[in-house]
Amino acid sequence: MRVLLVEDDERLAQALHASLAGAGFAVDRVADGVEAEFRGQTEDFDVAVLDLGLPGMDGVSVLQRWREAGRAMPVLVLTARSRFHDKLAAFNAGADDYLTKPFHPDELLLRLRALVRRSAGHASPVLRAGAIELDANAGRVQVDGRPVELTAQELRILSYLVHHAGEVVSRTRLGEHVYDAGYDPESNVIDVLIGRIRRKLGDPGLIRTLRGRGFLVGDEAA
Ligand code: CA
Repeated sequence: MRVLLVEDDERLAQALHASLAGAGFAVDRVADGVEAEFRGQTEDFDVAVLDLGLPGMDGVSVLQRWREAGRAMPVLVLTARSRFHDKLAAFNAGADDYLTKPFHPDELLLRLRALVRRSAGHASPVLRAGAIELDANAGRVQVDGRPVELTAQELRILSYLVHHAGEVVSRTRLGEHVYDAGYDPESNVIDVLIGRIRRKLGDPGLIRTLRGRGFLVGDEAA
């Protein structure tokens, strides 16, 4: 899952980046409101973490512009501002969640995972697609009740596909959502990893390749 991290406090941004990356998020970090507004308009993120006090443009204005332009990604506002008036402004601008500093880093991760699965249409943190079961909070995968050990990279790919079970996910889209802006669409890393995941799942049919279209977990939605 790809997260846009908008935070101008360099030390906090570094700590958040490390924590999010460690939890399997692909992180794009921005410290300026104008750049944040642009990146959110032009690139696809699964979720955004947005500070309110930012140079260039404040967070509420950034969010307002995203929503006015129809950008639907879930947005968690992360700020030191704890007054009701600030929360009201953020939710009125289109925020999905609001967390005040200081906060427990794991709480941020739990909230982000909940936002990501909700926006993909899942109510439970345990996602099922055919024989595959993914516990999104624990990062655990089972096939027909048998635990499957995946590397962090493999888990990122399978997690994206299971969140979007029933959709044909193109190679480019998959690359953009499991890697940060440094992803090279010419590389064959996705295909290599899909091959490894299939072997570990034990049934190559659990991830299908649709020629010229992409990858599919579960049955294609009508
Ligand atoms: Ca700030």
